[in-house]
Amino acid sequence: MKTLVFIEHADGKVKKTSLEAVAYAKALGGDVVALALGSIDGGALGETGKYGATRILHAADKKLDHPVIQVYTSVIQQAMQQEGADNLVLANTSLGTPVASKVAIRTGASFASNVMELPNTSSGFLVKRSIYTGKAFAWVEMKSAKKVIAIKKNAAELKEAGAAVSPTPFSPALDDKDFNTKVLSEEKASTAISLPEANIVVSGGRGLKGPEHWGILEELATTLGAATGCSKPVSDMGWRPHHEHVGQTGVKVAPQLYIAIGISGAIQHLAGVNSSKCIVVINKDADAPFFKAADYGIVGDAFDVVPKLTSALKAAK
Ligand SMILES: Cc1cc2nc3c(=O)[nH]c(=O)nc-3n(C[C@H](O)[C@H](O)[C@H](O)COP(=O)(O)OP(=O)(O)OC[C@H]3O[C@@H](n4cnc5c(N)ncnc54)[C@H](O)[C@@H]3O)c2cc1C
Repeated sequence: MKTLVFIEHADGKVKKTSLEAVAYAKALGGDVVALALGSIDGGALGETGKYGATRILHAADKKLDHPVIQVYTSVIQQAMQQEGADNLVLANTSLGTPVASKVAIRTGASFASNVMELPNTSSGFLVKRSIYTGKAFAWVEMKSAKKVIAIKKNAAELKEAGAAVSPTPFSPALDDKDFNTKVLSEEKASTAISLPEANIVVSGGRGLKGPEHWGILEELATTLGAATGCSKPVSDMGWRPHHEHVGQTGVKVAPQLYIAIGISGAIQHLAGVNSSKCIVVINKDADAPFFKAADYGIVGDAFDVVPKLTSALKAAK
């Protein structure tokens, strides 16, 4: 069996979610071939070898620097054909998922998105999918010989399983008519750690009373190397920028650690955080609903607890 993994990259680095896709493909068994499109340093790309890719294809044409769904679909399909790949695995992202569905249609593959863990292959090929914005899950049988799997964050454990590999140049045929959209400019939301990619998120709610109190949260975040998030009312009131709003109508996060400070834990907020590995809740109300979803909870005043927590973490460092 051979699996192709589509690699996404940003700022010269392979995205963590794509490394997880490589680890997932490796755990499926068989050969794993990674494919990256556009400009990225060969050394950075070679790191995917450490997580299980035995071969890395790099279509470095600058025309591929900005994703266009039709073009990326065509390039991935060509790579699958060249490599004789049975499966495609990629990260369930705003780019990965539409590309995956198109590749599945073109190749006649079974397609599953939002896949949460490795398949159960004891009888058929069953995958567990997260549905209804994380409020439920479904077991789905993938029946075709070819499979296209878009995985959620944390679907596979990231552990090094090999050595770095030098990328092999890949020169797909590019059809000008597929370049039907053009990125005119890109602007970064902020220079801080990207919220969707963060390993640790420190998030604040209305319990922090006002934007002037965010310093204690930011200090905790800096100490932990975390991204900052917030509840919807907080961004609606302009205390924090909208791109930090976490939840059903905001960013969905899946960090190793989510610390919620002064957030009640409304269902719409939980919909954006329930893929987190570990949730810590700090709230002065012992009956706050968030405690039901928490792995650890501290009942206390944020203005008392958070500075003490930050000091203890600094001392431990
Ligand atoms: C269609 C729809 C979509 C929505 N989408 C989202 C979404 O995507 N994300 C989202 O977050 N919300 C969303 N909401 C809003 C959601 O229902 C809640 O209203 C919101 O999450 C509450 O925000 P909060 O927890 O910050 O505020 P509150 O509900 O006011 O909770 C504040 C919490 O802080 C605690 N607190 C107060 N003072 C302190 C203190 N000194 N120390 C410690 N704790 C303290 C309180 O005990 C309380 O639990 C949506 C609502 C609707 C209707």
